[in-house]
Amino acid sequence: MLESIDCRCTRCDHALDDEQFRLAMTTTAGTRHVYECGCGAVTVTVVAEDRIG
Ligand SMILES: [Zn+2]
Repeated sequence: MLESIDCRCTRCDHALDDEQFRLAMTTTAGTRHVYECGCGAVTVTVVAEDRIG
């Protein structure tokens, strides 16, 4: 189930989209998406996934 995620830069509040997407990291806590805004700030978001087991 995918919903629109309101993902914004922590510094300038600019909307973060595929254009700012840099990399995804999967840890035991979930998947994190790293975005690099045009202002230079890096924002990390946590993506909830239904991947148990
Ligand atoms: Zn920014």
